[in-house]
Amino acid sequence: MSLKEYERKRRFDSTPEPPAKLDTKSGHRFVVQMHRATRLHYDFRLELDGVLKSWAVPKGPSLDPADKRLAMEVEDHPVSYYDFEGIIPENNYGAGSVMVWDMGTWEPLSPVTVDGKYVPASDQEARTMLAKGDLKFRLDGNKLKGDFALVKMRGRRPGSKGNEWLLIKKHDANEVEDYDIDQYDRSVLTKRTMDEIAGDTGSAEWRSRPAGGGRVKAAWLSDAIAKYDKKKATEKKQGAESATQVEAKKEPAAKAPAKTKKAKTAAPVDIREAGEKKTAKTKKLKSA
Ligand code: MN
Repeated sequence: MSLKEYERKRRFDSTPEPPAKLDTKSGHRFVVQMHRATRLHYDFRLELDGVLKSWAVPKGPSLDPADKRLAMEVEDHPVSYYDFEGIIPENNYGAGSVMVWDMGTWEPLSPVTVDGKYVPASDQEARTMLAKGDLKFRLDGNKLKGDFALVKMRGRRPGSKGNEWLLIKKHDANEVEDYDIDQYDRSVLTKRTMDEIAGDTGSAEWRSRPAGGGRVKAAWLSDAIAKYDKKKATEKKQGAESATQVEAKKEPAAKAPAKTKKAKTAAPVDIREAGEKKTAKTKKLKSA
């Protein structure tokens, strides 16, 4: 497991994304981040061996087993990316806005069924399934629940980058026919819409979240929310101190709409960049 590729793509003095740090303990959380970048997509991440194994899913996950969703494997992300929600500024890799669309826990499932049902497997089995390109797992999230598979596509077409998988819902009690992801458009972490996140000025977000942590049942979610609140409070405090002088000079009014526009016009590369960079590198090598 390495976060070198994650680190190489980012400049941490200009993005609020977390640094490339391997986690020492291995948990089993998952997160789906809605990412409005050059193209809207959903990043599907499973915690394993101190990193988040990651796939970019253009259409997002589905609870309908009839939907086979293309999932492009991307670089491992640090576990602390788990609750990253906010704006990646222009001219950064993946510039745009990021929403924590769903989060929860996952467990690997043995490929060998018992009485026709999938049963939990070990991390070692998960690694083997990943290496083979057929990972079965169970999700227990807020929006996504039940059994899924990530299946790697092989040699389907010339020019394939070899990073294409399919994310498929298995038949179980949690399946939903004609699942429409657009009906679920709020952050599980802050209850904000993507527009609210993109126009984040540090105040609107507090109104849209139900007050009090008592309504959140799952421990992993209340932990993440508490951590997010603490981080925001610190940022606000620091921001208030440094921003007063700068912002008073620059734009005295209408900060929120200006920011929203900015975030929408941000257009650098995103999920295709991994492939494009590889191509560029290959070309370089050839000509060298
Ligand atoms: Mn992304």
